[in-house]
Amino acid sequence: NAPLAEVDPEIAEVLDRELKRQQTFLEMIASENFVPVSVLQSQGSVLTNKYAEGYPGRRYYGGCEEVDVAEELAIQRAKDLFGAEFANVQPHSGASANAAVLHAIARPGDTLLGLSLDQGGHLTHGMKINFSGRLYDIVAYGVNPETSTIDMDEVRRLAIEHKPKVIIAGWSAYPRTLDFAAFRAIADEVGALLWVDMAHFAGLVAAGLHPNPVPHAHVVSSTVHKTIGGPRSGFILTNDADIAKKINSAVFPGQQGGPLMHVIAAKATAFKLAGTPEFKERQERVLRGAAILAERLSQQDVKDAGIGVRSGGTDVHLVLVDLRDAAIDGKQAEDLLHDIHITVNRNAVPNDPRPPMVTSGLRIGTPALATRGFGDAEFTEVADVIALALLPGADVEALRARVDALAAAFPLYPDLQQ
Ligand code: PLP
Repeated sequence: NAPLAEVDPEIAEVLDRELKRQQTFLEMIASENFVPVSVLQSQGSVLTNKYAEGYPGRRYYGGCEEVDVAEELAIQRAKDLFGAEFANVQPHSGASANAAVLHAIARPGDTLLGLSLDQGGHLTHGMKINFSGRLYDIVAYGVNPETSTIDMDEVRRLAIEHKPKVIIAGWSAYPRTLDFAAFRAIADEVGALLWVDMAHFAGLVAAGLHPNPVPHAHVVSSTVHKTIGGPRSGFILTNDADIAKKINSAVFPGQQGGPLMHVIAAKATAFKLAGTPEFKERQERVLRGAAILAERLSQQDVKDAGIGVRSGGTDVHLVLVDLRDAAIDGKQAEDLLHDIHITVNRNAVPNDPRPPMVTSGLRIGTPALATRGFGDAEFTEVADVIALALLPGADVEALRARVDALAAAFPLYPDLQQ
């Protein structure tokens, strides 16, 4: 039981260097966040030792009395947070949650209608070489090329034409709220089930700052690690008792074996924190930060450089930058921002003329910096730095100094001992 630094110095160094990287860079990948130390504690705990196949009170292993308490707490808190009658908190990740949803409500060969990957959808919504694209017959809707928003008339037209078994609403790169009632009306009209994947915006929903899909959808899946800022993992909600039974058997034994009890305990803590006024205040900063960023990236100097903000703004925690008419491409922009210590990811824009490894867009999110403590003043500063960085002839040294000053003013995990 020697410490990691002694047993495996190479891995100990990875942990140290990664902590340093997170502390020094400004994290603006829209799907990332920083978990609180309380969540790190559960994840690095003895609960990782426990096998607990089954569900609380119905396990296939002895000795589950303590982990049952953790899972019951996670289930109850997830239900309370989102106003759902049922929660399954066992999915190891968002993708496993989605696999379980499809396993529960569709059969291989059924037709699914979802947002296409290159227009902001997720791999698990029907991408060709993902399990979803291989097992199911996929019809994809996109965004209107003029407005960059989902056209519900087009969704309805495709639904009537293809009669999908499942309609998927949810996204990985889309800057607007969705009309869940309109999705449900279309699903009802064609006899489809509505599945909402709220992986990205669940934290905003929990804070009451984004429409809640739970009352509208037959089933809702999510991650815990994006806007919620909990452990890397997934969960599933529904108000339909029949679907609830199918979800439980689809997760275990349908998709998974033993649940990760250390992660489930951490989920319970994350859901508890997500019900607090502090969490709501943080999500308000997330939204204001994204709005400030969209505003700055819509100003004349940026427009003159051929750079645009897709859909003209944002309702959520991210901004999609359109570089189709800019001198700089997605890869160059990502590298340049990395150079000034800001981490973002390049992202294809609809009908992107550049290949997927290059792209003509950026996805920039504010959740991690809000968790770090950023408010309007800091988001205004970082938005200006990003805008200036993307303009031709950027002064990289000067911009990096501004980023470093922001990072130093908001220390991350100052007392963490790994
Ligand atoms: N669903 C959506 C909408 C996502 O954006 C993501 C992750 O990017 C996932 C599911 C998958 O989550 P995970 O990476 O935990 O498998």
